[in-house]
Amino acid sequence: MTASMIKLTDLRKEYGQFAAVKQLNLEVKSGEVFGFLGPNGAGKTTTIKMIVGMMQPTAGSIEIDGIDISKDRDAAKSRIGFIPDRPYIYEKVTGMEFMHFIGGLFRMDPDDIEKRGMELLRLFEIDHVSNELVSGYSHGMRQRLIMASAILHRPRLLVVDEPMVGLDPRGAKLVKKLFRQQADHGTTIFMSTHTLEVAEQVCDRVGIIQHGEIVAMGSIADLKRSAGALEKFEETFLQLTGLSDEQDVTGVVEG
Ligand code: ATP
Repeated sequence: MTASMIKLTDLRKEYGQFAAVKQLNLEVKSGEVFGFLGPNGAGKTTTIKMIVGMMQPTAGSIEIDGIDISKDRDAAKSRIGFIPDRPYIYEKVTGMEFMHFIGGLFRMDPDDIEKRGMELLRLFEIDHVSNELVSGYSHGMRQRLIMASAILHRPRLLVVDEPMVGLDPRGAKLVKKLFRQQADHGTTIFMSTHTLEVAEQVCDRVGIIQHGEIVAMGSIADLKRSAGALEKFEETFLQLTGLSDEQDVTGVVEG
């Protein structure tokens, strides 16, 4: 097993003249729950799209579980489950048919899809609608289906862009529990979020990105300490990304 599940080296992405991500260096260990925080437009989604192989970097490299994604994209992608912030879901299939479609993309055995698919639908509490069309699902039920399908092929890395958007409190609680459970079973989780409370409850470590650069990284306790032992992480976050004293945080290193 490789100790590092994600390794980003001097990663850069330019849109025309504009560099959305600049020289990003980041390592996430196996089994870690890593939170990627930052204000709107900081470069979170751009970074995530590069990690999951949807977008090519302008420069730098990405290793997933020791595999260079530019050299063996399929092998790297087979290790990743991805939950986008605005997932597309085909409506004219049932929940279970959707699971078969996703499992097929990963060349899973149909019996395995059926068995694990049902277990996951049960876990996400949507097994009672497994044979109903997705068009009749509520927004929260669709999100649960997306999450279930993302871990169907037993990925070692789960990448999640804004996990809590649109979930009710019960759904959000379920997701937090799922992340912890998955991590305890050795799955690495990389999630972007605006919800500081979620980061504080779920993440082992966070990185804060601003204007395409990491401005702070470490455990939430480390960051709080470096920001002057503030009571609430929210205050820390605002201080770290705020207009006040950006320079103070550039020295914050991994704890
Ligand atoms: P949010 O929290 O608002 O989702 P983010 O941190 O995910 O933001 P990105 O979506 O990665 O940020 O965007 C980073 C920057 O790159 C922004 O300034 C955005 O306007 C710009 N950008 C993103 N996609 C494109 C694109 N396809 N073409 C040009 N600029 C883009």
